Amino acid sequence: MEIRLRADNCTICGACEDACPYDAITVGTDGPEFSEECTLCGACVEVCPTEAIYIAGEEISAQSEPGEARGDVWVFAEQRDGQLLDVVLELLGEGRRLAAELEVSLGCLLLGDGVDHLAQELVKFGADRVYVGSAPELKGYRGDLYAQVMEYSVKQYRPEILLIGGTANGRSLAPRVATRLGTGLTADCTAFALDEDGNLLQTRPAFGGNLMATIRCPNHRPQMATVRPKVFPKPARDPNRKGEIIHLELPPLMPWQRILEVVEAADTGPNLVEADIVVAGGRGLGSPENFRLVEELASVLGAAVGASRAVVDAGWVSYPHQVGQTGRTVAPKIYIACGISGAIQHIVGMQSSDIIVAINSDPDAPIFSIATYGIVGKVEEIIPALIREIKGSSSQ
Ligand SMILES: Cc1cc2nc3c(=O)[nH]c(=O)nc-3n(C[C@H](O)[C@H](O)[C@H](O)COP(=O)(O)OP(=O)(O)OC[C@H]3O[C@@H](n4cnc5c(N)ncnc54)[C@H](O)[C@@H]3O)c2cc1C
Repeated sequence: MEIRLRADNCTICGACEDACPYDAITVGTDGPEFSEECTLCGACVEVCPTEAIYIAGEEISAQSEPGEARGDVWVFAEQRDGQLLDVVLELLGEGRRLAAELEVSLGCLLLGDGVDHLAQELVKFGADRVYVGSAPELKGYRGDLYAQVMEYSVKQYRPEILLIGGTANGRSLAPRVATRLGTGLTADCTAFALDEDGNLLQTRPAFGGNLMATIRCPNHRPQMATVRPKVFPKPARDPNRKGEIIHLELPPLMPWQRILEVVEAADTGPNLVEADIVVAGGRGLGSPENFRLVEELASVLGAAVGASRAVVDAGWVSYPHQVGQTGRTVAPKIYIACGISGAIQHIVGMQSSDIIVAINSDPDAPIFSIATYGIVGKVEEIIPALIREIKGSSSQ
């Protein structure tokens, strides 16, 4: 591999020289020059605002060497504070299906510190092999270090497919690794299939959710995709499943990011993605004051608060509550949509809910076409009546 410059893109801004932890870059009047001190750490690639710098070479071709078997399907086993995220289990279910169809094994890459206990759990949920990268530096998510280890492991074991949860960390990690490997990445997939050559057909919403695009990556490996939580069901846990645990010998880790402070997010009630009940409000509430009705209904039901983009953009509620294409994907047991019209960009984020209750004053609102129960009426009258009813029945 080597560092290269697209001279036409370079604006000689000097960001690469400042970012290089090894003083391996000197920016002159013709642009950056790279000395032998360069370790290909990628810090300059990440900061370059015009993508003028890149690392070339050693891409993994889709063509296997003669006699080489097809690679495995891999899932990135994201953990937080020693707990596997639900999306990992969901991807194990889908990965298991793809691996069976391709007649290969299902592998998991698990990174952290002291996370060996999770490896067995991954086996019980369907993994055949778990590759564990363990080091104190990997305890919490670090984009720079996790990308280095994932790139190293992929080059060593050459999986065919690599699925990553579309969480905040997964969305940070996947593009870094795809760039380092020179392969493609499809973000936010909602369905997978295989073509007759075994290429992964990766389907995701496109053009504002108005059509579904199916994307292939036929020339490079691994085929990488991120998937939002709650798109696939969790497989059943089989306590008798057996698998292989492989401890990775890690490459030297080269940090180039510094974590200055970790700030816990404010507690805003039940986690929107995990909640069993979501009460979501839209522009039909008419005012930020009326949005409090949604919060009150959520509170009496022990539900999480969701919102349409219209009200997030209006500043009635913060972005982490947004449901939809550019917000969260949720699949609760009950989703109550209050004053939400049912635009396609909203529906893609909640249509997998078990029961959808829609409250809207317009009997022709599109939300009613996917609702299990519809209430035609004004939210400012119906929500207080529901709150009274629920409070009344819980106090009896
Ligand atoms: C690229 C892109 C990405 C997007 N991503 C998202 C996304 O992630 N999430 C999202 O939600 N949107 C998203 N949108 C916006 C989306 O297209 C809609 O504009 C938005 O969802 C509309 O929000 P709403 O239903 O609250 O408002 P409106 O569409 O204005 O609907 C308000 C509804 O309230 C009803 N109503 C009015 N008064 C009352 C009353 N008193 N009582 C009961 N009902 C009443 C009306 O009949 C209407 O149906 C995106 C758009 C684009 C282009």
